[in-house]
Formats: sequence, C-alpha cells, structure tokens
Amino acid sequence: MYEDLKDKVFIVTGASQGIGRAIAIRLGKEKCKVIVNYANENTKTLADEVVATVEEAGGQAVTCQGDVSKVDTAKKLVDTAISHFGTLHGIVNNAGVQSEYPSEILPINEWDRIIDINLRGVFLGCQEAIKYLLKHNIEGSIVNITSVHQKISRPNYVHYASSKGGLKMLTETLAREYANKGIRVNSVAPGAIETPINEEFLNDPITTKEIINKIPKRKIGTPEEIAAPVTWLLSQEASYVTGATIYADGGMVLY
Ligand code: NAD
Repeated sequence: MYEDLKDKVFIVTGASQGIGRAIAIRLGKEKCKVIVNYANENTKTLADEVVATVEEAGGQAVTCQGDVSKVDTAKKLVDTAISHFGTLHGIVNNAGVQSEYPSEILPINEWDRIIDINLRGVFLGCQEAIKYLLKHNIEGSIVNITSVHQKISRPNYVHYASSKGGLKMLTETLAREYANKGIRVNSVAPGAIETPINEEFLNDPITTKEIINKIPKRKIGTPEEIAAPVTWLLSQEASYVTGATIYADGGMVLY
C-alpha cells in the first residue's frame, strides 16, 4: 500500500479488461478514485463490473465511454474526473491495439488506426491531463503503457512497434518538458502478459512455448504484475523518477 495514493484521482484508459482492468482494481485497493474508460457500448458491461470491483476493493470509480483516438475523449475523461471527484492527479494511458500484417500488404488505414489509438490517443490523454495539472498547480503523475516492442523490433507488426517506439520518445520528451512543473511522465513496458490481446497465441501450445523460451523468467506475466510498477510510479515513492521505462517482462528485453 502507498499511503499517499489514498483519495487520489486517476484516469485509466482501456480499463474494461486486461492490464487496464488490473490497474483500475489495484488503484481501488489503494483507495483511489478511478475513471474507468471503455471504448464502446460492447465493453460497457465489463467496465461496469470493473467499477463494482474497484468499489469492493475500497476505492471509488465511475465509467466514462470514449475512443481515445478522438480529440473530444480526453477532455471528456478529465471533465468526468472533475465532476465526480473534484480534481485529477494523473492518467494511465493504457488503451492499445495490435494486428498482424506483413508490411508489404499492411493497409494504410490499418497503419492509421493503430498509430491513432496507440500514439495519438496517448498524446491527447497526456495533453489534457497536463493542461489541468498545470492550471491547478498539481504535482501529477502520468504513466504510459508501452511494450518491449518500443525496443525489440517486431516483424509483421511494423505499425504496432512504430507506435510503441514513438511512445518512448513521447514519454521522455514530456517528462523533460514538465519535470520542473512537478509533473512526472513515465512508461511501463510489458512483455508477454496473459490478457485477451494475446488470446490467440495463448490458446496455441506451440506458440506459447516459443514465447516462453524467449523469456528468461520462463513464464507469461499477469496483468497484476504490470499494475504493480504502474502503481509505484503513480505514488510518491517514485517522486524522483521521470522519463523512465520500467520493463515488466520477466527479462524479455535481455534475451
Ligand atoms: P486488451 O486487448 O486486453 O485490452 C486493451 C484495452 O484497450 C481494451 O479494454 C480495449 O477495449 C481498449 N481499447 C482499444 N481501443 C481503444 C480505444 N480506441 N479507446 C479506448 N479504449 C480502447 O490488451 P492488454 O494486453 O490489456 O493491453 C493493454 C496495453 O498493454 C496496450 O497498450 C498493449 O499494447 C500493452 N501491452 C500488452 C502486452 C500483452 O502481452 N498483453 C504486451 C505489451 C504491451
């Protein structure tokens, strides 16, 4: 538990399932107030369940629908934080998507979709949160969920790897730009984590074995193992940490 997190208000994007869900619930255990973003009506029921679980854990939460790649969503998320909880202390930009295409046949609208959600969407979230934190002189913390593929290239996923590589520089640039204003900006880079995004390969024992062989710890990670470093970065325990990427990957980038 991080005592300073009690009653702090954080937005978590893409929080209806997977890593975002685990982050929201962990923040609930820390007695935070959480804005649970979900993408569309298909995921509303899941988001409502996350809110209930956050509240059972001792926190408070409210859902907020919005596609993070759209300009209005970030403002809506910040407005929801203010109207429900009166303030904001940071955002976890977690929402992300991927798809597999050999580069020579990658449709350009698929390139745009991945970059728009994974990179533009994170920028919009950071921009709106920073605007609020600066205006109200709040020492905030922002955590972006990148990937080991901000560092390790990924054939057939050039759009995804490019979005995460861009996210690394986005995080470092904003960290440097706002460090003297009391706003910290960091990243957590997951390796292979057991979430719906990986359902296909986790259902295939051969692919799973191939992946596990590339992980020095020889294990697929859990969403909770990503939520843990995110929570630390949001807390004052990490008060001197900005512009950093924590690889939570069982040593995958060392392979
Ligand atoms: P997931 O597919 O389970 O969850 C992604 C979430 O993002 C979903 O709730 C989805 O509805 C939401 N989302 C998608 N598009 C959105 C949009 N336009 N607006 C708002 N929300 C949207 O995947 P996950 O594994 O939980 O992934 C979370 C983050 O972690 C992503 O950024 C992903 O790139 C990153 N990541 C995951 C892994 C892994 O192995 N699972 C590894 C490295 C990085």
